[in-house]
Amino acid sequence: MEQFGTRKVRVMLVPLPLQGHLTPMLQLASVLHLRGFSVIVAHTEFNSPDPQLHPDFTFIPLKDGVCSPSANLLDMIAAINTNCMEPLQKCIVEQQGQVSCIIYDSLLHFVDTLAHCLKLPAIFFRPTTAVYMQSYLALLSLHEKMIIPLPESQLEEPVPELHPAIRFKDLPLSVLSKMSQVLIDFVKSFSDIKSAVAVICNSVEILDDFSLQHQYQVPFFPIGPLHKMASSSSMQTSLLQEDPGCIAWLDKQGLKSVLYVSLGSVATLSSEVLVETAMGIANSGQPFLWAIRPSSVAGSEWIECLPQGLREVIQERGMIVKWAPQKEVLAHPAVGGFLSHCGWNSTLESMSQGVAMICMPFFGDQRINARFLVHVWEVGVEIGNKADRKSIEEAVRVLMVEEQGKDMRLRAAEIKHKLHLSTVKDGSSCRALDDLVEFITSLSAPK
Ligand code: UDP
Repeated sequence: MEQFGTRKVRVMLVPLPLQGHLTPMLQLASVLHLRGFSVIVAHTEFNSPDPQLHPDFTFIPLKDGVCSPSANLLDMIAAINTNCMEPLQKCIVEQQGQVSCIIYDSLLHFVDTLAHCLKLPAIFFRPTTAVYMQSYLALLSLHEKMIIPLPESQLEEPVPELHPAIRFKDLPLSVLSKMSQVLIDFVKSFSDIKSAVAVICNSVEILDDFSLQHQYQVPFFPIGPLHKMASSSSMQTSLLQEDPGCIAWLDKQGLKSVLYVSLGSVATLSSEVLVETAMGIANSGQPFLWAIRPSSVAGSEWIECLPQGLREVIQERGMIVKWAPQKEVLAHPAVGGFLSHCGWNSTLESMSQGVAMICMPFFGDQRINARFLVHVWEVGVEIGNKADRKSIEEAVRVLMVEEQGKDMRLRAAEIKHKLHLSTVKDGSSCRALDDLVEFITSLSAPK
């Protein structure tokens, strides 16, 4: 990489402190460090990454005033956008013009405002797909054209401005009622790249639709899957303690026999859904590994609401942990399927290992990802997030035992191969990364 004198080009990254956002930002940090940049991570104290796990980066904590995980994510994001402005300004000023650009999570729009004032180039980072970004623009356009609210009878119809697989009911926000001003403002701030000079996306040509990039009129760099592009795929980014015991348990299971179950770091479920899911999985007779986060079941600390009898049945052929080393689990030869909420990181991690999925989407981009998994790439079975035990049992059988599941696994294996090709020399993500490196370097070139 080009350097000016002996000084490395320095970039500052500002992640959002949620697992699904922090992980790809740290992976991006690793990718940039690998390409010769010096990396500063300016992060909130809340859900702080562990600097000891990443000795190659400089970490600067920002006072955020978020003392406990708020039940309302929008409130937490708003608080960070307000409270971190001053500390980040101080942090940038202390760098005395040594930072070439600042790369910020798409939900932290205050960074753009600040960077603009300080005349520092800002780059907008989206940890999700371009199609998801497009879905917000479609929502705004539906609102402006006064098409929202829609009658329930139209929910199954495709959204005209989006990929034909996406129906009105898959959009990230309900179209059955008018959008409140707060929501409109949120959607605008979320989809507006303001003065950003470029967009980086944890996405990849073969799984996405980049027609959106023309609307933004700035360079667009899809360099995903970032966990494949980072220096080590086992890079530690978990905010919760991973339970390594499940790998020893997987070692004892048959080839592709285990269903891995995880609903990510944010989704919560009712005790009824937990019990139905547990019954469905137990009745399928398939071995399984289930990661259930503490406090992810409403009204419970963990899994107290599972009846004792059911727990015993589960114990016979399954393992439940609080947090799994997910990438390692998905790479394990014993894992044959993944029941997932379809968060984008989980989707990319599963596809990178050729693991077909059962899709139980909840909110945000998850419904859109699920639609692509099931209807476009044909590597998933959809069950929604309120499925009863019978449909869950049936879905597990289809994926793990039946011919249909075998075909899905074959297609998932093809995607795995294509994803690999995207990340090596001459692959689309690798080329986009070369262009990004050149772009960032040019920002600090003497003018
Ligand atoms: N994850 C993990 N262990 C678990 C559950 C999840 O390491 O037991 C990781 C997973 O590998 C992924 C992230 O948490 O990188 C979840 O991100 P995703 O975008 O899939 O969903 P979100 O948590 O944002 O809803």
